[in-house]
Amino acid sequence: MRTKILRSYLSPCERLSNRNSRFYPVRLRPSTDRPASKVAGMQGDVVIVGGSYAGIAATLTLLALKDGQPIPLAAYGDYYQHLCMAARIPGLRITVVDERDGFFHSVGGPLAYCSPEHAARMWRLYRGFPKLNRPDVTFVQGTVVRVDASTRTVSYQSPEGQQQDLPYDYLLAATGLRRPWPVVPRTTEMRSYLADAGTAARRLSAAGKIGIVVIGGGAVGVEFAGKLKTRYPATQITLIHARDQLLSNEPVPATFREKVQQLLEAQGVQVILRQRPRVEELPDGTSYVKFDNGDRIHAAQVIQAVKTGARPSTEWLPPTLVGDRGMIAVNDHLQVTDDPTLSDGRIFAAGDLVARPEIKLGGRAMVMGSVAAANIYAALLADPRRALCPPFPAHMAISVGSSMVLWKGNDDPEIYHGEALAKTFFGEDLGWQKILNALTLDHYEVQGQRGTENPRGQYRTHNDCVFTNRVGAN
Ligand SMILES: Cc1cc2nc3c(=O)[nH]c(=O)nc-3n(C[C@H](O)[C@H](O)[C@H](O)COP(=O)(O)OP(=O)(O)OC[C@H]3O[C@@H](n4cnc5c(N)ncnc54)[C@H](O)[C@@H]3O)c2cc1C
Repeated sequence: MRTKILRSYLSPCERLSNRNSRFYPVRLRPSTDRPASKVAGMQGDVVIVGGSYAGIAATLTLLALKDGQPIPLAAYGDYYQHLCMAARIPGLRITVVDERDGFFHSVGGPLAYCSPEHAARMWRLYRGFPKLNRPDVTFVQGTVVRVDASTRTVSYQSPEGQQQDLPYDYLLAATGLRRPWPVVPRTTEMRSYLADAGTAARRLSAAGKIGIVVIGGGAVGVEFAGKLKTRYPATQITLIHARDQLLSNEPVPATFREKVQQLLEAQGVQVILRQRPRVEELPDGTSYVKFDNGDRIHAAQVIQAVKTGARPSTEWLPPTLVGDRGMIAVNDHLQVTDDPTLSDGRIFAAGDLVARPEIKLGGRAMVMGSVAAANIYAALLADPRRALCPPFPAHMAISVGSSMVLWKGNDDPEIYHGEALAKTFFGEDLGWQKILNALTLDHYEVQGQRGTENPRGQYRTHNDCVFTNRVGAN
């Protein structure tokens, strides 16, 4: 009964994280319908820049439409009805360009940083997803540096430093926010990321009595402090925030913020408010965190999780398309709003880089990616109908160590929390397996690497190599 009440309130993001929720893709073309027609000879090149939550959801939506299959995210909103009987475009080709060689679960970053076993799971090589391993999808590793909207060309720099061009008919910008290590990986290869994670884990283990300081009590800082305390219960973990309350920038009730602080402190995290300390690095690799009143904390590790550390990765777009604070303004169809003669309406944007007032969330990025892809597909068909990107109602769910705090929005003033809820909501991996299931990417395998399948059919790592077999839902 409890679960039912909870689920009825869940927004797309929350549903992606709800362990008990079952995800049934809506079948857009029931078998009794006539099959969608193919438009013989029709072609289209879609380039997706950024292969994470938004970009991968967009890729899978385009493939579903092309194949006449259910759209994976259709269950999260009735945005696609006009495409129920859309014609298939046999010549549709998709190129995903990303700096990384795989899909990294940023939501799980705090857990991956504390625990190498989780780190190994949270980076999935693109080539390991059989569903994406097909001739009409190309993954290109590189940093996109420029778009020429007049010639419809994207330029990227390969890992070897060569500049190459890609033509597009439609372009999706899904490059999110740049954040510093260790909030997100600083490397672009899974192998070096795992080496980094191993080194970080050794340093964290060695922190011992000296302790670890997290600066910035927003959502990222709270999650890092909580996961560090869970993983290293004997180590002093201190969370420092400049304002009166944690999560001061988030549009949540004060009772939510109070509950988060209460749970952190109950788990042994020291919370210091109204302080903007300076960090002085010492020759031995440790640091002093210095306060205005002369006090200082000696820290083995200092993690910077301040909001100012995040900035949109939009420098590669024409400056006229980039708005306030580097964000991208879009219309309700997620088409970049600009001088129409510049991009000819062929550039769409989805995910964290979009200028919208709501809290940035992975589930929202996925819905946006899917809506943008549906609109790109309709545009390729010259169908004037467009899917509208919905407003996302206010809500927040945050992992706090072994617990969590949930606010379902303005319709329900209650603040939910607890360890059982955290297990239901985030699972054991901060929602990663649920997201993969929702995207229908639960099948993953990487050939030719050393490793052992464990009795649950899951991976086991040998050194920095990962081998996986079919991964079932946890
Ligand atoms: C520590 C942490 C905890 C979080 N916790 C939660 C949570 O609990 N729940 C939740 O819903 N959300 C959470 N979020 C937010 C969530 O991670 C983001 O909303 C989500 O990552 C946005 O997805 P995106 O696809 O827009 O961008 P991103 O995930 O940022 O992906 C952008 C992609 O673009 C690539 N890229 C960037 N620039 C370029 C370029 N020039 N050329 C080529 N590729 C490029 C990057 O390599 C990356 O793969 C958390 C975020 C962090 C950092």
